[in-house]
Amino acid sequence: MPSPDPDLPDLRSCFPVLSEEVNGRPLVYLDNGATTQKPQAMIDRLSQFFSHENANIHRGVHYLSMQASDAYDRARETVARFINAEHEDEIVFVRGTTEAINLVARSFAAPALQAGDEILLSVMEHHANIVPWQLIAGECGVKLVVAPMSDRGELIVEEFENCLSDRTRIVALTHVSNVLGTINPVAQLVDLAHARGIPVLLDGAQAVPHLPVDVQEIGCDFYAFSGHKMFAPDGLGVLYGRREILREMPPFQGGGDMIEQVTFEKTTFRAPPERFEAGTPNISGAIGLAATIEFLEQLGWERMHAQEAKLLDYATGVLGAIPGLEITGTAASKVAVVSFVLDGVHPHDIGTILDTCGIAVRAGHHCAQPLMERLGVSGTTRASFAFYNTIDEIDQLAGALRRVKNLFAG
Ligand code: PMP
Repeated sequence: MPSPDPDLPDLRSCFPVLSEEVNGRPLVYLDNGATTQKPQAMIDRLSQFFSHENANIHRGVHYLSMQASDAYDRARETVARFINAEHEDEIVFVRGTTEAINLVARSFAAPALQAGDEILLSVMEHHANIVPWQLIAGECGVKLVVAPMSDRGELIVEEFENCLSDRTRIVALTHVSNVLGTINPVAQLVDLAHARGIPVLLDGAQAVPHLPVDVQEIGCDFYAFSGHKMFAPDGLGVLYGRREILREMPPFQGGGDMIEQVTFEKTTFRAPPERFEAGTPNISGAIGLAATIEFLEQLGWERMHAQEAKLLDYATGVLGAIPGLEITGTAASKVAVVSFVLDGVHPHDIGTILDTCGIAVRAGHHCAQPLMERLGVSGTTRASFAFYNTIDEIDQLAGALRRVKNLFAG
């Protein structure tokens, strides 16, 4: 067992996977950017739901259906509280960040676009915040404009401002970079866009596990995130959209539950959020997300923050001291993510060798190929931390990387 950090005596035991062994070694899980591990409290809630409460929602008049509907509706309230949305009906349950962005691209942006219009992204976007825009841009004759970043991996605010034009129809930006860890100054960027009447979507997939998010304070029009990256189940994500905007948007998909009245001639649609939740939703996913949020609230951001800040600081120091290792992304404002390249060693070889030591990291382009091109690398190795990681695990990573380095030098 990696010796638990003295600050985390009981926290690790809340996440059962963390006591697994991999390749005969205690698991060191440093791939939280890809997905996070799940707390027992959420697993127990799902077990309770499936063992005692399972039914389809909103269509049943029987006891279980009403119980499940209540739990699903309460989950929406919990999520609204979590990101401080003004109204619960601003929370749309979707499959994940990817689906949320596709929904906005199709139902909000595409109907209003005309040839010659522009969509502003940044160079550090995940493919999930590039490809949906590219798909509609190709159909509508619209140009994607890309805001640049500095060599440290920070968006350059003046350059961002210069990219806003009278043809910009939407800005779609990541709140936190999945590769660099950079926390973008989103409230400031939203203000700049809004000053020109341009709506803003934020990709919060990598922000919600690390930072308290207040959508009203940020002022964005849309905010997208995935449950699985914040210790909740996969297959369930959230699109926040400002009420007055969602109400004007046409449906994304058609089917049951999103309609008021159907005839073969014409269908009328329900108000948001149901308008955007066609078919049986991921009921258990929403209930699991709410249980995770309650778990995190009990833990408190301060405790999580303090641990992550310590991990980032320590990892930056010990990894940065390895000869030939270069950290990619050194923004002043970062979450606990450390991507790096090791001179002469391919990231996939690093990842594979670390796996033999029970250490899980991610290697490759991280679904951010344009960013890799900007960095001039084909890929990086990424150690992405959560509040349950320990200093001891970073020491193990650093020790294993030194061995990798020696192996390849030899
Ligand atoms: N945006 C960012 C910044 C991400 O890191 C990810 C997941 N790696 C996504 C979007 C897509 O999330 P999902 O696959 O859960 O839809």
